[in-house]
Amino acid sequence: MVLMSRFDLRALFDLVVPLECAACRHPGTRWCTRCDRALRRLARPARVEVPVGVSTWRTLPVWAWGAYAAPLDSVVTAWKDDGRRDLSRLLAPLLAQSIHRATDGSGDRPTSGSAPGARPWLLVPVPSSRASVRRRGDAPLMGLLAQALTEPAPATTGALRLVPALTHQRVVVDQSRLGTERRRENLSGAMGVGARWLGCVEGRRCVVVDDVVTTGATLSEAARALLEAGASDVEAAVIAATPRRFGPGSGRPPP
Ligand SMILES: [Zn+2]
Repeated sequence: MVLMSRFDLRALFDLVVPLECAACRHPGTRWCTRCDRALRRLARPARVEVPVGVSTWRTLPVWAWGAYAAPLDSVVTAWKDDGRRDLSRLLAPLLAQSIHRATDGSGDRPTSGSAPGARPWLLVPVPSSRASVRRRGDAPLMGLLAQALTEPAPATTGALRLVPALTHQRVVVDQSRLGTERRRENLSGAMGVGARWLGCVEGRRCVVVDDVVTTGATLSEAARALLEAGASDVEAAVIAATPRRFGPGSGRPPP
């Protein structure tokens, strides 16, 4: 058996996977300073609203770090679909900021915030479909969320606990090929809280976590499933929202 040094392995990896920026394909680096500057300009912390199909709830507050535009869209695609899981290091701090805002009392419902003695917020990732786990070989959001939990949190952030409670209760097709209405039809009633997590979710405050909010159909369905399982409060946190969600009437400006 031939032992290889870390240097040799890195050189081998670079031969197999060309060393290039995840967004602009600039050679010689995995993430270039120009794209990094462009990424920082997308920071636009905001709370946007997504309708929820539950009679007592009209909208779900969704906290986003920034706008889903270039170069962030390329980074998310490379991370999720092209196997560049190393980009979690770049994305985790952005997701962490949204999670902290969802749990630090910035919301206007009385159950929000991190009151002394309050039980931890449950962080619930949206589930990956079996087809996407098969295609990608893993559920990248779980790894990203675990990494986001290691980011330093402000003192105002409530305690957090990762709980993969949601599952698909039936087969759904790939959302990316569907329009807004078809996405809602595809997901309506599709998610549920797994039997082993029911006691854990009941009466608890939950933050649904996803990478990006586009139409809001996925987050809406996740919130419905958690509320119907007895969650007392649900908010959502994502890395980014599509730019149209920052338009007039689509959300509150950042405080
Ligand atoms: Zn670049």
